[in-house]
Amino acid sequence: MSIRGVQDGSRSPMMITDSFFDDGGSESPTSAVGAEAPRELPNELSAPYEVPQFPIEQIEKKLLIQRQLNVKAAECGQSVRSFAGSEVGGALEEAARFRIPDDDEVDVVLPHFQRVAISGEDTSGVPLEDLQQASSYLVQALEIRKRYMEMSQQSYATITARFVRNMDADAPQNHTPTVKVPKSHIADHIVHPPFKENKDPWECPNPDAKGYTIKSDRGVFNLYRQEGGVESRVPYEYITLTQYIQDMNTMCNMIADGPLKSFCYRRLSYLSSKFQLHVLLNELRELASQKAVPHRDFYNIRKVDTHIHAASCMNQKHLLRFIKKTLKNHADEVVTLHKGTPMTLKAVFQSMNLSTYDLTVDMLDVHADRNTFHRFDKFNAKYNPIGESRLREVFLKTDNYMNGKYFARIIKEVAFDLEESKYQNAELRLSIYGKSPTEWAKLARWAIQYDVHSNNVRWLIQIPRLYDIFKSNKIMNNFQEFLSNIFQPLFEVTNDPNSNTDLHKFLTHVVGFDSVDDESKPENPILDPDVKIPEEWDDEENPPYAYYLYYMYANMTVLNHFRKEQGLNTFVLRPHCGEAGPVQHLVCGFMLAENISHGLLLRKVPVLQYLYYLAQIYIAMSPLSNNSLFLNYHRNPLPEFLARGLCITLSTDDPLQFHFTKEPLMEEYSIAAQVWKLSSCDMCELARNSVLMSGFPHEMKQYWLGPNYMKEGVAGNDITRTNVPDIRISFRYETLLDELTNIFKIQQCATIFSTEVTSLSPPIFKWPFALDVAAAQH
Ligand SMILES: [Zn+2]
Repeated sequence: MSIRGVQDGSRSPMMITDSFFDDGGSESPTSAVGAEAPRELPNELSAPYEVPQFPIEQIEKKLLIQRQLNVKAAECGQSVRSFAGSEVGGALEEAARFRIPDDDEVDVVLPHFQRVAISGEDTSGVPLEDLQQASSYLVQALEIRKRYMEMSQQSYATITARFVRNMDADAPQNHTPTVKVPKSHIADHIVHPPFKENKDPWECPNPDAKGYTIKSDRGVFNLYRQEGGVESRVPYEYITLTQYIQDMNTMCNMIADGPLKSFCYRRLSYLSSKFQLHVLLNELRELASQKAVPHRDFYNIRKVDTHIHAASCMNQKHLLRFIKKTLKNHADEVVTLHKGTPMTLKAVFQSMNLSTYDLTVDMLDVHADRNTFHRFDKFNAKYNPIGESRLREVFLKTDNYMNGKYFARIIKEVAFDLEESKYQNAELRLSIYGKSPTEWAKLARWAIQYDVHSNNVRWLIQIPRLYDIFKSNKIMNNFQEFLSNIFQPLFEVTNDPNSNTDLHKFLTHVVGFDSVDDESKPENPILDPDVKIPEEWDDEENPPYAYYLYYMYANMTVLNHFRKEQGLNTFVLRPHCGEAGPVQHLVCGFMLAENISHGLLLRKVPVLQYLYYLAQIYIAMSPLSNNSLFLNYHRNPLPEFLARGLCITLSTDDPLQFHFTKEPLMEEYSIAAQVWKLSSCDMCELARNSVLMSGFPHEMKQYWLGPNYMKEGVAGNDITRTNVPDIRISFRYETLLDELTNIFKIQQCATIFSTEVTSLSPPIFKWPFALDVAAAQH
C-alpha cells in the first residue's frame, strides 16, 4: 500500500510503489497473498508451531477472492488511464463504469491538482471478513434510506443512489434528474433571479376539488373515493409502523456492531487525514483559482440560514428598538385582553411599571448566557421579553388579539434587512402546535392579511412535541387528536383548495416540517413492536421521538403523493435531530428526514457519521447555539465533520438569544472562521452547501449556483457564482466515489463469488438480514 500524489496527469517524484496495478506478489506487505504460497496472513495463521485457526478451505476461498479483487483493481486501473485522457487514480473508476452518457461531458475539464490516492489491493485497513461484513451492513442501510426517501418524494444523493441502484438489477436505470443547459448558454443565465415587480407573490395553481373522503387509518391519513357506491382507498403507498420498527431495529443493531464501528471509525479517520493532505498540497491553488474569478467573493455568494426560528430571528437590539418604537407610536392600540377586558399597549407597560426610557437590552433579558448551559427550561423562558409571557404574546406570536400584527411587522423588517443584504436568505420556522384544528387557518390568515413574504424567505413549520402538556391540561384525550389537528386541515385544503384559499396560497411558500423540543428529556428511544397506535395512546406520558417522527413522516408521505398528483408543491422533513439525548434519534433522522439540524451526537456514533457521509445528508449546524446550550464551542465537531466531507451548513438557530450584530449569519461564519481558521474556500463551500440544502425552488438555485448545479462533480459547479474552486469540488467528489467504490465493489465481488464457491462449501458471504426491499404493504 502506498500513498501517492498525482499531478497534471504524470506521476510526481514523491510517488512510492504503485502496487495498485500489480498482481499479488509485490513487495508490499498486504499484497503478499500471491498465487503461490502465502508468506504472511495476519490474524489468520498463528505461529508456525501451532495449527491454523481457520480450516484450510476458508483460507483457500479467501485467497481466491483476494486474487479476483486484484484482477478487478488492475482492470479498473486500465479504465482510469483511458478516462478523460489522464490518469487520476482510483476515484473515477466507478464514474467511468456507471456514468450516464451525457453530450456535454466533453466540456468538462478536470482540474489539475495534487491528488492523494491510496494504492494497493486491500486499502480498507481491516481484515477481509470485516470489510465484507461492514460493506454488507452499510449497503443495507443505504438501501433502507433510499426506500424511505423515494416513497416520500424527498431527495436522495444521486451519486449514492446510483451505486445502490446498481446493486438492484431491476431498478429503473435513469432516475437521476437531468438538467441540461449547454455550456454556451451559461453566461447568459443571469445570477439575479428576475423577480417581476407587480407579480402577486401568492399566485399559485388552483386544481379542482377531488372530493375524496379523508380518514385516518391507525394514525395515518388516507384518501378514499366513492365509485358506484363502493368506497375504495386511493393507493398512495407509505411505510407501515411495523416495517418502520423492523428497519429501526436493524439500524440500531448495526450501530452497535463492534467490527462495523471500528471499520467506520477507521474510514472517518482516513477521510480526515486525506483532507489534511489535500489542504497541505492544494491550499494555494484553491486560493489562486478563487482570486482568478472576477467580482465574486465570500460576501456576494448566496447563503441560506437553513435553521432559524421566526420568533427569534431578530437580534435583541432589534427587538428592543421595535418595542420602543411601537410603544411610542401605538400606545393606545388595544393589544390584548386582561380577564376579558381590552388592554392597550400603554396599559400593558404600566402594569409592569415600565416606560420606554427604562427599557434596555439587559432588562429585556432574552440573551442566553452561562446559566442556560444544559438548562433547556431556562432557555425556553428566554423567549419571554422581561420574563413576561404577555410581551411574548403581543410581539412574538401570530395568534393573538391583533392576529399577530406586530409579529408580522417585525418579521417584515428582518426580511427587509435580508433583501438589503441581497445575498442572505433564511428559512424561518413558524409554529403549529397541534392544539386545535383552526391553527393552520389562523396562521395562513396572518401571512396573507399582513402580506408576510419575501423572495429571501421560505417557511418551515415547526411542530413542538407537546402532546403531554395538552394531555395533562385536558385539552385532548389521545395522540390521534394531536395528529388530526396538524394533518387533517392540510389534507382538506389539498382535497379542495377553495375550502380555504388563504391556507392553499400560504402552503406554496412552505417547504417542510421541523420537529422541535428538548431532545434530552428522558424517554425510551426504541419502539416496541406492540406499541400503541395513536388512537389508543391516551397516556399522560409523551410518545418517544421516534414515534412523533414516524407519524409526521407517514402523514407527509401520503400528503406528498396527493399534492404531487395535483401539481402542487411537496414537503420535506427537516427535524432537529441529535442535539442532545439518545443517539437513536439520529437513526430516525437517517431513515425519515431529507436533512437535519444539529447532528452533534454523530461525533459519538462513527457508524452513523459514516452513513451520513455516504448518503450525503445535509446537517445544519449552529455552534453558537450549542455553545450556550449543550456543547462548548471548542469541542464542537463541525470542523471535523466538514473536513471529512459531511454536508455541513452554518446556521444561527436563534439570533435573539445568541447573536449580537445586525447580520447574525455573518456573525456565525465570522466566529467559525476565526476560531477554526477556516479558509475562504471552506466558507464558500459551507455557503454553497446551505443553498443546496435549502428548500428554495430549483430555478432559484440555478440562478444562484449555476444552471447545471444538479450535475455531479465539477460539471455541476460554476465558480463564477459559487466561488468554490473546482479543485475542492473534484476532491470531494472523487473521495466520495472512492469510498462508495470500496464498499460496493466488495459487495459485488461477494455476489459473484457466493455463486461460484457454493460448490465447495456453504457460502460465507451472504446478507446478514433478509433484505425486504418491497414497498410497504398496506
Ligand atoms: Zn432550533
